Amino acid sequence: MSEDCLFCKIVGGQIPADLVYEDERILAFRDISPQAPLHVLIVPRKHVATLNDADEQDRELLGHILLTAKGIAAENGVQGGYRVVNNCGEPAGQSVFHIHFHLLGGRPMGWPPG
Ligand code: 5GP
Ligand code: ZN
Repeated sequence: MSEDCLFCKIVGGQIPADLVYEDERILAFRDISPQAPLHVLIVPRKHVATLNDADEQDRELLGHILLTAKGIAAENGVQGGYRVVNNCGEPAGQSVFHIHFHLLGGRPMGWPPG
């Protein structure tokens, strides 16, 4: 738990979120500003600021997040095509410094990203 972290507050229930999945390790909730028909953020309950702050102990947790993304995509009917994104650091577009993975689906997506 990090005092003034937005996603720690969502994990702690101090700020409401539209949850789509939760277990003892992670939470998934809809992005407040969706960029696709399905736009879910998957976050660990424990505070890790960025992917660069994750370490060997987080290996299983990170794998769990990816496999959960696959499950949520399937439950929402987008298993044929979706994107999982982690923005690491401000230059990459990270604005909330509690590690999270965007799951986006339900529309065609271009590559490379802008
Ligand atoms: P980042 O830019 O760090 O990769 O992604 C942060 C995401 O968090 C953005 O897509 C933004 O829309 C989302 N976000 C910011 N504040 C809130 C909030 O209070 N609730 C929810 N559900 N999403 C938020
Ligand atoms: Zn946090």
